[in-house]
Amino acid sequence: MLTRSNCCVAAIAVMVAVTGCRKEPPAKERAKSDAETQSRVVAKLAKADEYDGTIDHIVSKCPNCALHMDGTHEHVLQVSGYTLRFCAEHCKKEYEKDTANAILALKIPED
Ligand SMILES: [Zn+2]
Repeated sequence: MLTRSNCCVAAIAVMVAVTGCRKEPPAKERAKSDAETQSRVVAKLAKADEYDGTIDHIVSKCPNCALHMDGTHEHVLQVSGYTLRFCAEHCKKEYEKDTANAILALKIPED
């Protein structure tokens, strides 16, 4: 069985060649960086800010109520330079639990 052993040597040589030129995994397979999450949060905050009609870094409608309720001065959260006003303490608490994901999940109504 000489041919069989020659075949094995060839297979090992191929494996060495393949592992020798292994490439970096594609960018999309890497874990999302904090910086990327942060920029998406800020982009969403900018839209929410715009939605209330004044671009002043204050989101005056309650984000936890999908911006359908007016926020108050009593229930306020500061996020990335923006002030979020909530309609109630429990709405604010929902956002405090996981602020970044809550903002990313926010659907801003069109019109
Ligand atoms: Zn609310």
